[in-house]
Amino acid sequence: MRFVIALAVACAAAVVPQAPTRSVVRFGHLWDGTRLIDNALVTTDGDAIASVESGVKAPADAVDLSRYTAIPGLIDLHTHITYYWDRKPGTRPLGQPRRRPAVTVFLAQDNARRTLESGVTTIRDLGASGETDYAMRDLVAMGAMIGPRMFVAGQGISAGRGWTPNPPALAKQAEDRINAGSDWVKVYASRGSFDSVETTQTLTFDELKAIVDAAHALNHKVAIHSYGASGVRDAVRAGADSVEHGIEIDDDTFAEMVKRGTVWVPTIDHNRYYVDARDEYGFKPEAIPPLEEYITKNLESTTRAFKAGVKLGMGSDAVYTMFGQNTRELEWFVKAGMTPAQALATATTIPAELLDRKDRLGRIAPGFAADLVAIEGHPLENIHDVVAGVRWVMKDGKVVVQR
Ligand SMILES: [Zn+2]
Repeated sequence: MRFVIALAVACAAAVVPQAPTRSVVRFGHLWDGTRLIDNALVTTDGDAIASVESGVKAPADAVDLSRYTAIPGLIDLHTHITYYWDRKPGTRPLGQPRRRPAVTVFLAQDNARRTLESGVTTIRDLGASGETDYAMRDLVAMGAMIGPRMFVAGQGISAGRGWTPNPPALAKQAEDRINAGSDWVKVYASRGSFDSVETTQTLTFDELKAIVDAAHALNHKVAIHSYGASGVRDAVRAGADSVEHGIEIDDDTFAEMVKRGTVWVPTIDHNRYYVDARDEYGFKPEAIPPLEEYITKNLESTTRAFKAGVKLGMGSDAVYTMFGQNTRELEWFVKAGMTPAQALATATTIPAELLDRKDRLGRIAPGFAADLVAIEGHPLENIHDVVAGVRWVMKDGKVVVQR
């Protein structure tokens, strides 16, 4: 017994990464979040960037990544990182036997690793049960678990079956989530998830407003899920900080988003994932055409939103086996009319501001977190290189991915 305990302590100590130190890394090119520079030398000190220089001679001990282009650590605004599936034959992602929260937290480290491998070093996790997201956030922040920095929502707020509208009760739920440890409040204002693209609105404008007002009074922000246009419209008017999903959104709603600075996270790619993973999930063949139709409408609205000047955010809505595909949304954004640099802004400067971290995340500059991603190829010319070309990732001054 004593031996087992000693071993457990030894193992636990072994996984805690070493305290970060000073490092110097050389890149062929570097996109700092606003511009591209050549022959870049980045010096990190602890968990922060100390300097970014161009065209200077690299010291002998510099890490040579001169065949790559550096971009800032990316931010995925919509994940469910505690949705884990062990791929056990005869099981499916949905309907797995219940696991204890601590077991889920341990297993979900695999999702965290895949996320880092995609170049994502920060996530906003929008919905988890059993406080598993609080635990992962805290373990990562302690350095005891390797994973992306996490902003989390805990359990999402939704209307249960037979719900009758009750704004004060929902305001209280928002306060309870924040007091329990949620950074963000996540609200489900409509149906729709997995193989269902049902757009039915489930919470009223007054209910959404009550939730948003309660959260804002406590200085916390709100993300509202809506598959349909009416829920998006009401979410924006209620003061949501970000709106998730959505199709057939009217121009007045986009104008209101521009006026208020609301960030829209359309999550186009997650339905592409469900189409591709249909056999894993056991989705019925008749579920596929509606998913494909939703993708088309989702992209159409995104194209109009971008033209209208709406702030767009990269959110994968990753669950289960989608981790590692977190950045494929960027390719849809280029299809919607963005340049690669504009697409990268949806995963760097725009989400950093939404997360109230615009002086710390989303750029490579002195004083910012030492989160760097080395890309093989030409990320500012071909966005696919960001999706497929991640070769090395540093987070908080520590190398977390090396290929
Ligand atoms: Zn989601």
